Amino acid sequence: MQHDVRHFDLVIIGTGSGNSIADERFADWNIAIVEKGVFGGTCLNVGCIPTKMFVHTADVAAAPASGARLGVDATLDGVRWTDVRDRIFGRIDPISEGGRRWRAEENANVTVYEGTAKFVGPKTLDTGTGETITADRFVLAAGSRPVVPDVADLATVGYHTSDTIMRLDELPERLTILGSGFVAAEFAHVFSSFGVAVTVIARSDVLLRHEDHEVASRFTSVASEKWDVRLRRKAVRAERVNGEVRLHLEGPDGAEVVTSDELLVAVGRTPNADLLDLSTTGVELHPDGRVVVDEYQRTSVEGIYALGDISSEYQLKHVANHEARVVQHNLLNPDSPIASDHRYVPAAVFSAPQVASVGLTEEQAVEQGVRYVAASQAYASIAYGWAMEDTTGFAKVLADPSTGRILGAHIIGPQASSVIQPIIQAMSFGLDAKTMAKGQYWIHPAMPEVIENALLNLPLD
Ligand SMILES: Cc1cc2nc3c(=O)[nH]c(=O)nc-3n(C[C@H](O)[C@H](O)[C@H](O)COP(=O)(O)OP(=O)(O)OC[C@H]3O[C@@H](n4cnc5c(N)ncnc54)[C@H](O)[C@@H]3O)c2cc1C
Repeated sequence: MQHDVRHFDLVIIGTGSGNSIADERFADWNIAIVEKGVFGGTCLNVGCIPTKMFVHTADVAAAPASGARLGVDATLDGVRWTDVRDRIFGRIDPISEGGRRWRAEENANVTVYEGTAKFVGPKTLDTGTGETITADRFVLAAGSRPVVPDVADLATVGYHTSDTIMRLDELPERLTILGSGFVAAEFAHVFSSFGVAVTVIARSDVLLRHEDHEVASRFTSVASEKWDVRLRRKAVRAERVNGEVRLHLEGPDGAEVVTSDELLVAVGRTPNADLLDLSTTGVELHPDGRVVVDEYQRTSVEGIYALGDISSEYQLKHVANHEARVVQHNLLNPDSPIASDHRYVPAAVFSAPQVASVGLTEEQAVEQGVRYVAASQAYASIAYGWAMEDTTGFAKVLADPSTGRILGAHIIGPQASSVIQPIIQAMSFGLDAKTMAKGQYWIHPAMPEVIENALLNLPLD
């Protein structure tokens, strides 16, 4: 039977950050939301939130081993993997399901389509449920997915990605992680703290290669003491023999094979724009597959906006949320749009040690010809660092030598993701290094003293 094509005021594709747009101010808009997977998107279901719940658990599991240098002898008796897993997803899954039910059953003005959307004409969408719809406005918030690298026979060995590894039935004895970015670093910490022998395979000569080089090098040397880190390796073939995964590598010393029980592929994420057949509605893409947007999050087609991983170079939840608020405002106020603020986007790696960064790295400052001075402070040289017996952490700050404007900060060490926040605030509100260091109290002897001292060490004009 031929259905009439339903027309909406607004269609939102993806229920990650896109799901937050349709609040009470849209009560008189007729809205459709299309979702192909689990309601709530990557961060809630397979990203930030469950990984950090695992990371905290891993920090607890790793704590006894760090006690010896303080004179406390403690041992880890064991990790009840299924209890760990079920605590985390027992909390998350109901939130996702509750969100779905609320949208589908309690929002009179919202129709939820559970299918894979793709455009079939200008502002015309196949919802993947058998129904095609049209709308005046669209929000593309379809996120990204793990990249699967070109390794022969990978598909046949049964590998994991971040989408599946957290739901394992049992803890493996050995885990190989292909990749060396933040997802790889966080899972390496989680599984090694739970007693799994972890091997990390990197193509580059350091882990976390996008970080400031000193931070990346320090992280790599600390990581190499805990995990079997293989740098400058290319995975060429995978096979499963007697239940074991064998990954064939090529590296500086020729061919080698890494054997483990499970394989996690974590080599990056690609935007889901390709799933949407955007050319049929005229939306332009960058060569790397991201949707092109202007500062107002508008695509090349009037009335179609995009946000988050599908268009962003950052692939971070706080950026997706910020852009969702911008899109929300601009849908409601198209004649007075606001722009996204991407000036100082921070990021953190919740591994062990933690890493956090904002602004320019030294390498970027050199590359862009930006005049700068840099200074560092070791955690080992502040009182709380003595308390922790930290030997590897440091904070580095970069500033303009004449104005003291803070250009960047890079921290590796305990609680780096929290310790960095005052710098983000200073950069965002234009506080210079000297005023920031000297114009306020710093609680003694708290960890942010590492920042205070790095700022005071800057050789400003
Ligand atoms: C393991 C991991 C850890 C992370 N940790 C952090 C962290 O600590 N901090 C941080 O800031 N960021 C983190 N991120 C990144 C963060 O999760 C993403 O940047 C963020 O979730 C992107 O939000 P989004 O709304 O753009 O997309 P998503 O949340 O991915 O939502 C997109 C939704 O669209 C749906 N969809 C896709 N295609 C279609 C289609 N054709 N039709 C219908 N529906 C479709 C998807 O199923 C999905 O539900 C992490 C990511 C991963 C994978």
